[in-house]
Amino acid sequence: MNRRKIVIIGSGPGGLTAGMLLASKGYKIEVFEKKDYLGGRNSAITADGYTFDLGPTFLMMKYILDEMFELTGRNIEDYLDIKSIDPLYRLSFTDGREFYPSIDRKATAEQIKELFPGNEQGYERFFAYEEKKFKRLVPCLQIPYASPRDFLATRLIKALPYLDAHRNLYDHLSKYFDDHHLRTAFTFQAKYLGMSPWHCPATYSIIPYLEYGLGIYHPIGGLNQITKAMATVVEEEGGTIHLGAGVKQVLIRNGRAVGVLLENGEKVDAHDVILNADFAYAMQHLVPEKERPHYTDALLERKKYSCSTFMLYLGLDKQYDIPHHNIIFAQDYKHNVDEITETLTLSEDPSFYIQNATVTDPGLAPEGHSTIYILVPVANNFSDIDWEKEAPAFRDKIIDRLETRCGLTQLQQHIRYEKIITPLDWEQDKYVYKGATFNLAHNVRQMLHWRPHNKFEDIDNCFLVGGGTHPGSGLPTIFESGRISSGIILKRDCW
Ligand SMILES: Cc1cc2nc3c(=O)[nH]c(=O)nc-3n(C[C@H](O)[C@H](O)[C@H](O)COP(=O)(O)OP(=O)(O)OC[C@H]3O[C@@H](n4cnc5c(N)ncnc54)[C@H](O)[C@@H]3O)c2cc1C
Repeated sequence: MNRRKIVIIGSGPGGLTAGMLLASKGYKIEVFEKKDYLGGRNSAITADGYTFDLGPTFLMMKYILDEMFELTGRNIEDYLDIKSIDPLYRLSFTDGREFYPSIDRKATAEQIKELFPGNEQGYERFFAYEEKKFKRLVPCLQIPYASPRDFLATRLIKALPYLDAHRNLYDHLSKYFDDHHLRTAFTFQAKYLGMSPWHCPATYSIIPYLEYGLGIYHPIGGLNQITKAMATVVEEEGGTIHLGAGVKQVLIRNGRAVGVLLENGEKVDAHDVILNADFAYAMQHLVPEKERPHYTDALLERKKYSCSTFMLYLGLDKQYDIPHHNIIFAQDYKHNVDEITETLTLSEDPSFYIQNATVTDPGLAPEGHSTIYILVPVANNFSDIDWEKEAPAFRDKIIDRLETRCGLTQLQQHIRYEKIITPLDWEQDKYVYKGATFNLAHNVRQMLHWRPHNKFEDIDNCFLVGGGTHPGSGLPTIFESGRISSGIILKRDCW
């Protein structure tokens, strides 16, 4: 049996995907997690009988997650009960229009005809092109781009005409639709990468295609159940997960990772080290600067990062009649996006997302109660916003909007539990560099070969997984990062 030992730093979805894939091949896996709970940004908040997902609430490309379990010889259904959410979401615009896209294409086309007349043909054209693009691009996200030879891969050459990296997402979608709100409905997904649709490469039009074409899913118990299920597999395969066990430093000898030094002073030897902690945070805190010539502190600071999020988690003593996912757009959406990504200022009129998960999953709250999760995209900590001072008033503004624009009348009176997470908390309490919750930005200069490599370029026997490496932030791509990095190790070891 293969007993090479691999240490994984962090129990986020990237670390646990790699952990379960490698453990199932006989590697001795030890995961060290600084927090005393599992899952990283994909963990749960539980208090007073309420359960919230800390971060991800949309599972897309469910089939990729299924494949990860299949690769370990398992059926995902034995671990997770996953429901499709349809309609996908409610999109609310300030002119009063509300759009409920569905994976039922006919139903969506009928709504487009009614709400955005004249755009029905554009919807057909969107599917005709984006489906082909998706089929060509997705295989390209499944290989590493460490060497120039990777660019000669047939799958990439076939995909080149569909890269669309020379234009931005908003302009690309404008080919299909002439209504600004409808364009917004197909481009706001750039926010999942923490980017502006006016700057995000049109390559990422595969994200709206994924939603409208393949749907959005919710595991019962919340998306945090995904990392719990992965941890179960790691342990079933003989791996060990240490919680409350922060790593202080990656131990490096002659340019090669040889283990880790824990915060408690213990040294743990390993043949390989896999880094799942937030990339820029990990560089600054866990790897001595002289060992990372491509990622010195100054170079890290010059990179582009995603936006951050202001979060409100509310436990309520009633259930409101609103859909599972709701997105409320600012009056001037472009101005709001510019505030988040360009001027780095706090918005007077923010856009935000509300999750009302108990309509699908009542077990997340006591009977008759519900959970409301609110995510407001805001600037990351390259801004001068003083969150300690601003958070209370910003929170009140959001509650007011929820009461007046979203159908949550008298919300304040029904709050029984409340938690706020600001960009400062993401940085200080969740170890996210500059509070950039969606990691390094996905601009052309930070994609493929130009994103930190899965086999880390500065240190041998060190591999990266998670949102900071290729293919990028977002659960399906993070699962792929775990598959790519494990694949490199397996290939090296002649599997
Ligand atoms: C608010 C929010 C909403 C999101 N919504 C979605 C969504 O709906 N759909 C989607 O697909 N994606 C979403 N994402 C993006 C992404 O899927 C998640 O952020 C994902 O959890 C990132 O996974 P990861 O593996 O990169 O790392 P993380 O989840 O960040 O895990 C890294 C782990 O490393 C640990 N760590 C750090 N330092 C140390 C140390 N020194 N020693 C040991 N351990 C350490 C951390 O504690 C953490 O547990 C969202 C993200 C956020 C923040």
